[in-house]
Amino acid sequence: MGKIPVFSLQSEIESLKSKLMDSIENVLLSGHFIMGENVRAFEEEVSAYLGVKYAVALNSGTDALIIALKAVGIGEGDEVITTPFTFFATAEAIHQVGAKAVFVDIDPRTFNMNPSLIEQAITPRTKAILPVHIFGRTAEMDEILAMARSYRLKVIEDVAQAFGAEYKGKKAGTLGAAGCFSFFPTKNLGAYGDGGLIATDDEEIAEYSRMLRIHGSKKKYHNETFGYNSRLDELQAAILRVKLPYIDQWNNQRIQIANNYNEWLAGIPGIVLPESADFHRSSHVFHQYTIRILDGKRDRLQKNLADQGIDTMIYYPIPVHRLPVFQDDSISLPIAEQASSEVISLPIWPQMETETQKTVVKALESLLKI
Ligand SMILES: *Cc1c(COP(=O)(O)O)cnc(C)c1O
Repeated sequence: MGKIPVFSLQSEIESLKSKLMDSIENVLLSGHFIMGENVRAFEEEVSAYLGVKYAVALNSGTDALIIALKAVGIGEGDEVITTPFTFFATAEAIHQVGAKAVFVDIDPRTFNMNPSLIEQAITPRTKAILPVHIFGRTAEMDEILAMARSYRLKVIEDVAQAFGAEYKGKKAGTLGAAGCFSFFPTKNLGAYGDGGLIATDDEEIAEYSRMLRIHGSKKKYHNETFGYNSRLDELQAAILRVKLPYIDQWNNQRIQIANNYNEWLAGIPGIVLPESADFHRSSHVFHQYTIRILDGKRDRLQKNLADQGIDTMIYYPIPVHRLPVFQDDSISLPIAEQASSEVISLPIWPQMETETQKTVVKALESLLKI
């Protein structure tokens, strides 16, 4: 039995090889590598897919967050309410624009920000709410948007893990002022390098983001403000254009694999499975299939699985508010802290074979039934 990775691009690349090679070759032959036809077309194709007016392609999801925060006017002295149960970049971006990340605890059932805790975290300095659709499950956007409306806050969505997910018929990333996507290779829509994107219906946000993307200039050498070098390159855009038409199919395959896990792991003692995909009006595109292992057995289980050649991941072993750079002993977010000690993400990728999945299930079964 070969090793089972936690994620694999091998069959995707094999099945798309000739299309990928053609589009890569076209870019090479065009000699145009920065801000060309592929970036323009990709932005158009993504905005059509998402149902949004503007898409601004960037060089990472982290930059998408930083640039979106700046474009909605967040800066020095402002506070942004977010979740501690996310990848560091969410809170890092808030810090990098000069604002303070204010963490609210999560809903133990979804791992997403608990909207009923937002109001008590609002101060006169609060300017925005930054929900993350963690693991591919949409956050509770109705409640978040309603709170934002009553306190006149901006909502920026971190959609890095949820490309293609929907909330009540609208695509995640199109519900707030701006949606920030990542095309890191392991994301549901991944490039073969770094990439990111801002989606928005707001022309000003789009224009300002485009300007920040190229050193704060609309016209070359007529720089109007301090920006970044944050362009998606033509090769990545060309690769993403090959992959975009498959995203719904791939997300559905992920959902099928998650359904299999839910069915086959049901009844094993000591584990908690994800709530069904439509829990809380959310949808779930299973960027990760994450379960809880109770009774302090998680780390031992992970090691035992590794010994059998099965890779798993812990997203996230330390909630962001407990990382040394944010550490503040007065903050206690017990639900996120408990989640960090219990979660484990099992192997999942769209082309994962049933037999491979059954091997993972059997291993878990035999390790947990003792
Ligand atoms: C991946 C990720 C990011 C950062 O995206 P990069 O493209 O790696 O910069 C931000 N937030 C979340 C939740 C992520 O998973």
